Amino acid sequence: MDAQVETLVVGAGQAGLATAYHLRCRGVPTLVLEGRGRVGDVWRQRYASLRLFSPAAADGLPGMAFPAPRASYPTGAAMGDFLEAYAAAMDLPVRTGVHAERVTTRTGGGFRVTTADGGVIDAEQVVVATGGHQRPRVPAFAADLDPDIVQIHSAGYRDPGQLQDGRVLVVGASHSGADLAFEAAATHPTLLSGRLPGEVPYTLGRPSARLAGLVIPFVFRRVLTLRTPPGRRLASAVRHGGAAPLIRVKRRHLAAAGVELAEARTVGTRDGRPLLADGRVLDDVRNVLWCTGYTEDFRWVEPAPLDADGRLRHVRGVVEEVPGLYFTGLVFQHSFASMLILGAGHDAEHVARRVAALRRERGSGPAGGRRQGRRQSSDVRLEPAVGPIRVMPPSTTHDAPVT
Ligand SMILES: Cc1cc2nc3c(=O)[nH]c(=O)nc-3n(C[C@H](O)[C@H](O)[C@H](O)COP(=O)(O)OP(=O)(O)OC[C@H]3O[C@@H](n4cnc5c(N)ncnc54)[C@H](O)[C@@H]3O)c2cc1C
Repeated sequence: MDAQVETLVVGAGQAGLATAYHLRCRGVPTLVLEGRGRVGDVWRQRYASLRLFSPAAADGLPGMAFPAPRASYPTGAAMGDFLEAYAAAMDLPVRTGVHAERVTTRTGGGFRVTTADGGVIDAEQVVVATGGHQRPRVPAFAADLDPDIVQIHSAGYRDPGQLQDGRVLVVGASHSGADLAFEAAATHPTLLSGRLPGEVPYTLGRPSARLAGLVIPFVFRRVLTLRTPPGRRLASAVRHGGAAPLIRVKRRHLAAAGVELAEARTVGTRDGRPLLADGRVLDDVRNVLWCTGYTEDFRWVEPAPLDADGRLRHVRGVVEEVPGLYFTGLVFQHSFASMLILGAGHDAEHVARRVAALRRERGSGPAGGRRQGRRQSSDVRLEPAVGPIRVMPPSTTHDAPVT
């Protein structure tokens, strides 16, 4: 497709849609590109048994709460459907099935985006909202594992049907690691390698959870930020692979499911078999599930200034060295909540404000830059929503623990 637009948002996940919403509220003409066939496919294509670790109360987007009981955990498919319904309800201009391949600067100002279908889109400003999960990270020693071991990264895992008989090693004690170990243990002897992070000290539905529901959004968005010492410490830990506390599947659920927990990390191989840091060689492992996270990859955004380690230089998603270029949905973009649904609206609003301000500066925005739009919200709302949105169809429910 060829087009000329004022502001282009690349990616229609929660970050891109929340940005489009806030741009719309400010009257900024915007087009959103989505590479997949349907808005929400990124969630539908994650593992089939996925349930969010964040309760519905924390899964809304600006102007629209998640339409499910506050203390329930939506499925991944329901989250995908919610994003699609959100784009439709907010009348956001999303073009699906168009994958942006490269962003360059144009002589004379603005940006040129080339797309996989051979199209060219010129834009005054570009917001890259393609998510922090671009390249699955797998340790280099994975290549030394015996070829008779099935290896799957969580990004490519759908269901236990992909596993062969025999023991499963899940590497990485994160949310995904806990989920996949819990699931694999129903059919395979399963060992989870890695130190489990802490877990939240409440159980959904109890009074302590109601209090947590009030405190956590505030702490995640306003206290654990890059402006505070605890926030900066946490940011460094998260960027170096530290996992957030377990919320839904906890240690006791794993133990009850029969998952063997090994604090020791998987550090290499010996004779093609996985080697743990405590010296154990796992001779009988037949499957390895890598829950080892992702790395950012913004090399395709040519004007983006990257450090030697490939990390983007920005301030709250604003690339100050390249006026008109922004990012949303980055890990710890501003706060711990940035990588969660809970933080999408907050970060998006900041970026949208800066887009609108530059537009005014350049003389194309409305005088005074008043916000427009149907509903305005500075934050994710936590009250139950209404509307004809399909949530948690029976086919996508499963027996994962919900307490
Ligand atoms: C397994 C898993 C479970 C998670 N569970 C939770 C949870 O329970 N609660 C929570 O708060 N967070 C959760 N997260 C973290 C986070 O909320 C999600 O990763 C979320 O999908 C990030 O949203 P995003 O909009 O930043 O990126 P994405 O959801 O990845 O959206 C990016 C969009 O951009 C599109 N795109 C990418 N590249 C291009 C391109 N070049 N051109 C056009 N389109 C492109 C993609 O198709 C996608 O639709 C989870 C993450 C994972 C991996």
